[in-house]
Amino acid sequence: MSYKTNIEYRKETLIKLLNTIIIHEDEIIKALYDDFKKPAFEAVLTETSYVISELKDTIKNLNKWAKPKRVFPSLLNFPSKDYIYKDPYGKVLIIAPWNYPFQLALCPLVSAVAAGNQVVIKPSELTLNTSAIIAKIIAKTFHVNHVEVIQGGVDVSKNLLSQRWDYIFFTGSVPVGKIVAQAAAEHLTPVTLELGGKNPCIIDETANLKLAAKRIVWGKFINAGQTCIAPDYIMIQKDMKNKFIEYMKEEITAAYGNKPEESPDYARIVNVKNWTRLTAMIDNDKVIFGGQTNESDCYIAPTLIDESDIDSLIMKDEIFGPLLPILEYSSGADLHAVISKYEKPLSLYIFTENKTFASEIIQNYSFGGGCINDTVVHFSNKRLPFGGVGHSGIGAYHGSLSFDTFSHKKSIVKKANWLDLPMRYAPYKDKLTTIKKLLKWI
Ligand code: NAD
Repeated sequence: MSYKTNIEYRKETLIKLLNTIIIHEDEIIKALYDDFKKPAFEAVLTETSYVISELKDTIKNLNKWAKPKRVFPSLLNFPSKDYIYKDPYGKVLIIAPWNYPFQLALCPLVSAVAAGNQVVIKPSELTLNTSAIIAKIIAKTFHVNHVEVIQGGVDVSKNLLSQRWDYIFFTGSVPVGKIVAQAAAEHLTPVTLELGGKNPCIIDETANLKLAAKRIVWGKFINAGQTCIAPDYIMIQKDMKNKFIEYMKEEITAAYGNKPEESPDYARIVNVKNWTRLTAMIDNDKVIFGGQTNESDCYIAPTLIDESDIDSLIMKDEIFGPLLPILEYSSGADLHAVISKYEKPLSLYIFTENKTFASEIIQNYSFGGGCINDTVVHFSNKRLPFGGVGHSGIGAYHGSLSFDTFSHKKSIVKKANWLDLPMRYAPYKDKLTTIKKLLKWI
C-alpha cells in the first residue's frame, strides 16, 4: 500500500492532518474545556500547538529521517556499502490517557504515520469530548484502512490488546502498562510504555527559593496537577522549609488568586472517581495551604501538605492531582531514604546553585529525565528523548526519535561482485593462523 513505501504520500496525509487540526483548533480547545475545564492557554500551549509543531517538524524532516543511512562497512565484508533502512513495523496500536488527551494521542500518531505504519488509536474514555473531535479529525484526514480511531473503555482496550499488532505504543498508568506488556508478550510485539511514577523535587540550601516556588507552582498545578511529569513531592533542606512555604503560598495566590475555584486558569479533576481518590489523601491536620474541595465541580484547590510520614497514604503512590506534600531533610542519608523507597520515577527536579550537588543527584539516581532549577520543561525540547526507565516506562520519543520508535532498523550489506576474497570459505586448511592475525588487526 502506498503509505508503506511512498514517502510523498505520507507527507501529503500529514499536511492534510496539519490543516485539519488548524481548522478545528477552537473545537479542540472547547472539547478540552468541556472535559475538565482545561484553560484555553494550557490547551494551546500543551496540546494543539505542541501537536502542530511536531507535525511541522516531521513534515520538514521526513525525507531526511526516512532515507537509508549509510554506515561504515566492516573490513571483513570488503568490498561493500552498508545501510540502515527505516522500515515501518506494520500495524500499530496507540492507547492514550486522558490528562493531555489530544497531544498524547496525536503526537505518537504523527510519527507512526510518518514512519509508514497503519494505525489504530484508542483515546481515553474519560475525556469523551476530546475523543470525539480526535475521531472526527482522523476520519476527515485518513482512509479508514490507514488510520482509524476506536473509541471505548477498558473492554474495548482489552479487546484491541487481544489482537495481534506489530507495535504497541501505550501511555498511561503503571498497572495498565503491565497489562499491555503481558498482552504484547503473547506475540512478541515491541512496545513503548510511557508510564508514571513518584517524581521527587529536591531543594537544597543554596537554591533561589522564590524562583523555585514560582516554577514549582507552575509545573505542579498546570492541568490541576494531572501531569505525569509534575513534581509529586518536595524534599527540602530543613532550614529552608518555612521560607519556601511562604513563597509557595504567595506564588499560588499570584497565579490563581485568593479563590482558585473562580480562576479561569485552573483545571478540574477529570471525574468523581479521581476526585474521591485524591480527597482521601488529604489529611486536614497536615494541610498548610488550600485543602478546599467541591465534589459537584470536581474541584480541589492547590494544596500544600506538611508531610513527615513516608508511609502516609499520600506518599504511597503517584498523586496525579493538585496536592503537594512537603518533606524536609537534614542529610544526604535522609534524602536517599525517601527517594530510594520508590521505583525509578519518570522525572526528577533539583533546585540548587551547587553544581556538584546537582551532578551527584543526576549520577546517583535513575529516572526518565528532569531539570535543574525548573520543572516539566524538558518535555518541550524535541531534541531530548522523552520516556521513563524501569517502572516509569520503556522506550522514549519526540522529534526524530519518535520516527525511529515506529521504524524497524533493517541492516543491509550491499556486496560488490568485482572482488570475492577467498579467506572465509571452506576448506579452511591452513587459514586459521592467518584469520587469527587478521582479526586481531581489524
Ligand atoms: P490508565 O492506565 O488508567 O488508562 C490509559 C489507557 O488505558 C486508557 O485509554 C484506558 O482506556 C486504557 N485502560 C485502562 N484500563 C485498562 C485495562 N485494564 N486494560 C486495557 N486498557 C486499559 O491511565 P490514565 O488514568 O488515563 O492516565 C494517568 C496515568 O498515565 C498516570 O499514571 C500518568 O503518570 C500516566 N501518564 C504518563 C505519561 C507519560 O508520557 N509517561 C503521560 C500521561 C499520563
